[in-house]
Amino acid sequence: MIIARVALCAAVLLLPYHASAREKADVLIRHAAVVDVEHARMSFDQAVATKGDRIVAVGNDAEIAAAWDAARQVDGKGRFLIPGLWDMHVHFGGGAELVEENKALLPLYVAYGVTTVRDCSGDLANDVLNWRRAIAEGKLFGPRLLSSGPKIEGIKPVWKGTLETGSEADVDQAIAKLVTLKVDFVKITDNTLKPELFLYAVRKSRAAGFRVSGHIPMALTVGQVVDAGISSIEHLSYAQKAGAKDEARIAADFASGHIDRAAAWAQLNAGFDQATAMASYAKLRDREVFVTPTLNIERLLAFLDSEDHSKDGFLAYIGPGLRKTYQWRIDRAAKATPDEISERHREYRQTAAVLPLLEEAGVTIMAGTDAGYLNSFDYPAIGLHQELALYVENGLTPAEALAAATRAGPKWFGVLDRYGSVEVGKQADLVLLDANPLVDIHATSAINTVVLRGSIEDRRALDKVLADAKPKVVRWNAEAAK
Ligand SMILES: [Zn+2]
Repeated sequence: MIIARVALCAAVLLLPYHASAREKADVLIRHAAVVDVEHARMSFDQAVATKGDRIVAVGNDAEIAAAWDAARQVDGKGRFLIPGLWDMHVHFGGGAELVEENKALLPLYVAYGVTTVRDCSGDLANDVLNWRRAIAEGKLFGPRLLSSGPKIEGIKPVWKGTLETGSEADVDQAIAKLVTLKVDFVKITDNTLKPELFLYAVRKSRAAGFRVSGHIPMALTVGQVVDAGISSIEHLSYAQKAGAKDEARIAADFASGHIDRAAAWAQLNAGFDQATAMASYAKLRDREVFVTPTLNIERLLAFLDSEDHSKDGFLAYIGPGLRKTYQWRIDRAAKATPDEISERHREYRQTAAVLPLLEEAGVTIMAGTDAGYLNSFDYPAIGLHQELALYVENGLTPAEALAAATRAGPKWFGVLDRYGSVEVGKQADLVLLDANPLVDIHATSAINTVVLRGSIEDRRALDKVLADAKPKVVRWNAEAAK
């Protein structure tokens, strides 16, 4: 009884204090349903206060409103608040003459609720690193950029703008250069990089303190690359490779020149075995190797034969130079025979079927689109929403898909203490939705408001960002048509 009376007295004493001197926040989002992505739960009628780039209070609306005041109030009634979205696999590139076209993509990400992107390397590394700094300093409007800088490759690869390495000394030098560029992680691909050197580059990058993202060389098993210390595997097809019973034999046959790449893939596909896959995926889980599916591009390329993209609304935001980089994949698809086309469709379905197995094994799936140049019709910003819809279409729950786009990225970069949930102390990167994303994942694109580093972009501001992006493209198209 005494305890109760003391508590009551404290409440009586506190109330007038709060009423007269509420703390100042910058933004107060009222009456929203806050989505706890980690636990797939929802708290209704919540208020969220932000100050600077941080969340300073979250809780029952009446209590928070009694304690906090803010000049800018956002009506969250009937709406759903999620952490900002992360696209963990995008590209900028296509040559020095496309710098402006690439730069023009940055605001689009914000307009679609994407507050962080992981740039997985292209041929404009210096520009991207400059944008990274300008965005961080608040001088350029765009999502937070995390970049690999130039990727590590072999000598004379098809990809431009890479650090070409043909020896261990070259790799050491490349990593030293990446240290001076202060890149956020290291990207390694194997177009011409020798398999032993690939493993060396993974080990040395990890030893230098970097996380490493990469493709898996056909001459190696996924397990070998995991043992070397890779941190994320890009593209679901490599997770599928890890599920082939004869993966080691196929890798050896490819390495010795007995079979070519196409034959190796055919054997890997034919040899997929669920028990083998689950054992491989348990290893990915235990070593904390994340997988970025990039299903959107896989699906787009598989169905280029039958889907007409010429009237896609999003093309209004894609400059003529970037659009031209789409052409090589379109031309390649046009040459395919009916058998090749149906095989491509089948391969897509087989690859996509790997996704729920990874989830079941406890592997962290990181949402990433591969959007950017070259990847035909895999649009920046809107692409992430398509990617998430594909996750659900292929067996994930909406909450799992949402976690892949809000929590997996921060977890990979080791910054879950700062990102990935709507909690006090976290970054004020938020997206307020008009529909419930735990019920229907398509709700992620029903965006009412984006909070980017504490700054409010309401629907009207987001529409203006989109409207302002169009005239530039119209002008570029007119110039290109001359
Ligand atoms: Zn890529």
